Amino acid sequence: MKILVINCGSSSLKYQVIDMDTKNPIAKGLVERIGLSGAVLTHSLTAGKKNIIKTEIPSHVTAIELVLKALVSPEYGALKDLSEIYAVGHRVVHGGEKFANSVVVDDAVMAALKECIELAPLHNPPNIAGIKACQKMMPTTPQVAVFDTAFHQTMKPESYIYGLPYEYYENYGIRKYGFHGTSHKYVSQRAAVLLKKPLQELKLISCHLGNGASISAIRGGRSIDTSMGFTPLDGLMMGTRSGALDPAIVTYIMCRERFSCEQVNDFLNSKCGALGVSGVSSDFRDIEVAAEQGNSRAQLALDIFAHDVKQFIGSYAAVLGGVDAVIFTAGVGENASHMREVICRNMDYLGIHLDVEKNKVRGEEVDVSKPNARCRVLVIPTNEELMIALDTLELTQKKSLQ
Ligand code: AMP
Repeated sequence: MKILVINCGSSSLKYQVIDMDTKNPIAKGLVERIGLSGAVLTHSLTAGKKNIIKTEIPSHVTAIELVLKALVSPEYGALKDLSEIYAVGHRVVHGGEKFANSVVVDDAVMAALKECIELAPLHNPPNIAGIKACQKMMPTTPQVAVFDTAFHQTMKPESYIYGLPYEYYENYGIRKYGFHGTSHKYVSQRAAVLLKKPLQELKLISCHLGNGASISAIRGGRSIDTSMGFTPLDGLMMGTRSGALDPAIVTYIMCRERFSCEQVNDFLNSKCGALGVSGVSSDFRDIEVAAEQGNSRAQLALDIFAHDVKQFIGSYAAVLGGVDAVIFTAGVGENASHMREVICRNMDYLGIHLDVEKNKVRGEEVDVSKPNARCRVLVIPTNEELMIALDTLELTQKKSLQ
């Protein structure tokens, strides 16, 4: 059984076809520069063949058409026929409060997705465009929406309500939603397997540290708090995003720089964070190299990041009332062993004792703690595509049994 997973951005589209018997992708690819000049589709088979197609790609519909054509190409395709695709799973960034779980898309769901646009004006429209394009090209194939926000819908009001007049929550939907939910859910499930304990009994802190970064407190498989908020700008300092600030700084910068609302939003999302502090790059690899060469601002950016992560781990241990394991995932979390080491220093009080030798791993699923450590430290490569495919399969099989 094969599931197609689609992740549509404003001008890009990532996809994978996953064979659900092996849980491995058999084909994957990326469409870039949709609606722009120089559009390109890079399609590759896991077996090794790679194809680059440069052509006009004016819309997401054209992009999907091209992807589906590539998937059944006699030369470099992975499928004989599109009917081999059992269902399509779509990553949707924002499900608001309407979606606490993944859903099979029907007309009512589509209408609700449109209502969530105002919460994620940059992200949800391309996600919806991707679903519509697939509906058009594969009208009888079920489409499933999997939300970045859904996993965090289990948070309690004391975690998600801000210190604003309550009407702002009621009228504008201003609350903490949290993101990276698919990743936090996946790694927490894997952690239970790795620890050989039921997920229901575990208190976990999941650190998704990539270009975007967030941390979640997970009790019994349910998110009880998370560092991103109303938008993915909150929480940790990230590659280009400021993370949490004194809110008065925003209006102060607006006055000093004469920024409009759009300008300040763009500034906080794309010119701040590790890029802004280091002045070197938003990429942690470049920053690490610069720091090793003695660049003190690059070192400061790394120190801030480690400090932020440590602070959230401490506060979430307090919220959870203890912690069985800290999970590191995503680009930095999976690969940057030195960063993990710095974060885990002086955390004996939580029972964290990192095995420095074991910690020298990259991108592997490993317990990197010392044998007697009370709180385990796990490196777990995230796999949001597989999580989306698993949800898609479960929902569509349920539906076919009804
Ligand atoms: P992601 O958003 O999950 O793709 O993560 C991207 C981030 O991971 C970038 O900042 C990369 O520099 C960082 N990253 C990837 N590999 C490494 C590595 N070996 N050491 C440090 N950072 C890394």
